[in-house]
Formats: sequence, structure tokens, C-alpha cells
Amino acid sequence: MLQVKNISFSYQETEVLKQISFAVEAGEQLSIIGESGSGKSTLLKLIYGEFDLNEGHIFWKETEVLGPKFNLVVGYDFMKYVAQEFDLMPFTSVAENIGAFLSNFYPEEKQERTKELLEVVELTAFAKVKVKTLSGGQKQRVALARALAKQPEIILLDEPFSHIDNFKKQSLRRNVFKYLKEKNIACIVATHDKEDVLGFADRMLILNNHEVEVVGTPEKLYHTPKTPLIASFFGEFNVIENNIIYAHQLQFVENSNLKATVKQSYFKGHYYLIEADLDGKMVLFENKTALKNNDVVSLKIMT
Ligand code: ADP
Ligand code: MG
Repeated sequence: MLQVKNISFSYQETEVLKQISFAVEAGEQLSIIGESGSGKSTLLKLIYGEFDLNEGHIFWKETEVLGPKFNLVVGYDFMKYVAQEFDLMPFTSVAENIGAFLSNFYPEEKQERTKELLEVVELTAFAKVKVKTLSGGQKQRVALARALAKQPEIILLDEPFSHIDNFKKQSLRRNVFKYLKEKNIACIVATHDKEDVLGFADRMLILNNHEVEVVGTPEKLYHTPKTPLIASFFGEFNVIENNIIYAHQLQFVENSNLKATVKQSYFKGHYYLIEADLDGKMVLFENKTALKNNDVVSLKIMT
């Protein structure tokens, strides 16, 4: 459906993205992961047709997405894009912002859609409130609902929950991603937050050094991380004898020949993350309780 074929792009001389290729199926959710500055936002903007490519092609079905040199009005009906910096109409209400692109010829349909989307982003109580008085997180939710108003076939979301506080984030994510799946809307999410990915993404694409490091299902990449960068996305890990061992795979046992000296315990909720010295190298493991600094413990790798 979406085909990104060998695209390269630079703002000035240095290339931000080099020979990127991947595809997204109808209704599929793909996460684009990478460190800050790795080119996630740039990639979404290219898919949206905001800039001209140095090389390569982008297609949605049979339509080639063209940059501003070849397409005067940026954007296509089948695709919506919610930027990191969203632009809304500040002096009109939440409901009016969401319905802005819906036709007034069908007032009932417009009202229905607006109502449904207010529920998805949990802003029903704010329908009549002027956007300028909202918090950053609430504005982000309005931008999301507005992008969904005229049901696109594909939506591009740039860090869609970054402004939303933790209290709201969890349920909102579930609402939005469930809605996209139900409506079979393909979705590309740029994020560095694993909570935006796990449980939702069908596949993830990791950007590193201007290139695609890997594309795969979250399960596959989690269970067999080929590089420390991939592992680091999922959580704390160690490299022991060239193997990537997650902190929870290293366990405190009665006795073993892996002896480490406890240096620090960090409270993490249902467990403590323990930092310990193993033959002069710092390792991390998880334990139910905090451990005493400088105690010597036996560790075992559980895989
Ligand atoms: P990410 O979203 O992963 O943080 P970006 O796509 O925003 O990364 O940026 C990728 C690189 O491109 C960075 O080095 C950034 O400084 C540069 N960059 C982003 N936008 C522009 C721009 N408008 N002009 C010049 N350089 C830019
Ligand atoms: Mg970005």
C-alpha cells in the first residue's frame, strides 16, 4: 500500500536519510524508532510530501507522493499528518476545530463524527471550550481528532502523546490505536517512547546513522535484539560475553560462579534495579527487594 523506495534526503549538504526502503500494508501500524535527531520527523514529512526527495520514490497504492516542486498544494485526501507542532484555530472551540474539514452540507453527519472523535480523544467535556485556553496535551488531542475527522487511509503521527501527561496517556493510547485498527487506517508513528509501540505496533523500523537499522515485529526484535541500540529500546540490558542480556534475565541466586558486588539499588515500582560490579564491569539486574551496598551476590543468566 505505502511503498517507500530507496529514498534519500538532505536539508543542506549532509544527508539526513540515506536509501530508506520499507512498505506499510492497509490498516497496519508501523512505529519509527530512533534517537532524537535520527530523522524520524523528516521521514514523516517526506512521506507527506512536504519536501522534495534527493532520490527515490514514495507511493500510496498507485499514487506517487510528490514534493512541493511537483505538487503545489501539499497533502493528499487519503493521508493525514499530525506534526510535533500542531497548528489549530485558537479562537474557535474544540468541536469546531475537529469538524473544520467536514462538510456543512451534512450537518448531522458532521455532528455525529465530531461526537465520536471527541470520545476517542476523551474531550467530550471540552467540546465548547476555546482551543487557546487548553493545555499542550489537550491541544495535541484536538489535533489528533481533527486529523481523523475525514477518515484518511493512512495517518502519520509524530510523537502523538508526547505532550500528554501520564494520567491520561495510557487510556488515550489504547482508544486511539484501537480506533485506527477498527477503521483499518494504516498508521506510522514516530516515537522514542516504547509505550507508544509495545502492544500496538505490528512492526517497528529502527533508524540509526541515517539508515534503516532493522524492520521487524516487536516480539522478534525484543527476543533477538541484534544490536545494543535495539535492546536499549526495550529496557536496561547488559552485554555479557558478547550476548545481550536484559536486566530481568540476570537473577540473584543462592550460589553460582558469577559473583558481583552490589553498588546501588533503584526503586522501580514492582522491582528494584540493582547496579553491581561484575569483574570490574557494571551490570544491571532486577530484584524484588533492595540489596545492601557492597554485599557480594551470586548471579545467574536466565534465558
Ligand atoms: P527526529 O525527529 O528523529 O528527532 P529530525 O527529523 O527532526 O529528527 O531531524 C533530523 C536531522 O535533520 C537533525 O540533525 C536535525 O537537526 C536536522 N533538521 C531537521 N529539520 C531541519 C530543517 N528544517 N533544516 C535543517 N536541518 C534540519
Ligand atoms: Mg522529531
